[in-house]
Amino acid sequence: MTTPSLNDVVRSAHELWPVALAEPWDASGLVCGRGDQPVRRILFAVDAVQATAREAVESECQLLLTHHPLLLRGAKFLPTSNDKGAVVHTLIENGCGLLASHTNADSMIGGVSDALMGACGITESVPLGDAEAFTGIGRVGDLAEEITLEELAQRLATALVPTAGGLRIAGPKEGTVKRVAVCGGAGDSLFDDVRASRADVFVTADLRHHPASEARERALLDGGTPYLIDCSHFASEELWLASGAKMLRDHLAARGFEVETLLSSLNTDPWDFRVSTGEAPASASTAPEGDGYARDL
Ligand SMILES: [Zn+2]
Repeated sequence: MTTPSLNDVVRSAHELWPVALAEPWDASGLVCGRGDQPVRRILFAVDAVQATAREAVESECQLLLTHHPLLLRGAKFLPTSNDKGAVVHTLIENGCGLLASHTNADSMIGGVSDALMGACGITESVPLGDAEAFTGIGRVGDLAEEITLEELAQRLATALVPTAGGLRIAGPKEGTVKRVAVCGGAGDSLFDDVRASRADVFVTADLRHHPASEARERALLDGGTPYLIDCSHFASEELWLASGAKMLRDHLAARGFEVETLLSSLNTDPWDFRVSTGEAPASASTAPEGDGYARDL
């Protein structure tokens, strides 16, 4: 077994997660790094931020592999006084490359949504929507047996790393679920596919008021489902790091290369703490005849 170069690692990563499968707006690929640099150790992280760049350097990695691209919206200036520039300089000055595997890694089997399916307790699933076999963002599959919405949420709460926001759930605690649709990261563009899949519940992240409210209003006319479980974006994708690292290690090993992979120990969810505003009554879309808020007039 020999030590691969950065080019060797990028080739394996792109065979596992072909860049052609990335969404058109995405920026997956090698952000910086010298192709002939030997790579002995790789740090996997969700985000390329100043702390994970320092973590990669301090743990003597020659490559930081992140899920999210650093320069998604383009950048014209990268001095160290700029947040993106600080990341790039920390990495380049310390001989560490940066590779982003984003929606291309979401799409492939064993990607982010498959990891989230695993956290739900589901090992067999198919892509949401009319995607080609084994590719496409989002997955749908069935639990071995029907459980309550609250039980599924508890199962996820145990599997996900702790984050300040926890989980938000739309639907009755005792509602039953068997068919589960998931999308790691922000999934509110997939509601039509989720409804078409006849899923009982949709597990995703970053759900905004209007898409969530409209989805629940439509569910009200259709037996009450799909229910919604809204996770931390970071936590829903952090699950993939371990399986992504193993896939890359195995792919390189099959080519005669050996690397060590580390998983970031940092929480890059942007939120730090939560203050409860009190116990809310069930929402009007879940309990249309509910008691509502008690208001003193
Ligand atoms: Zn994401």
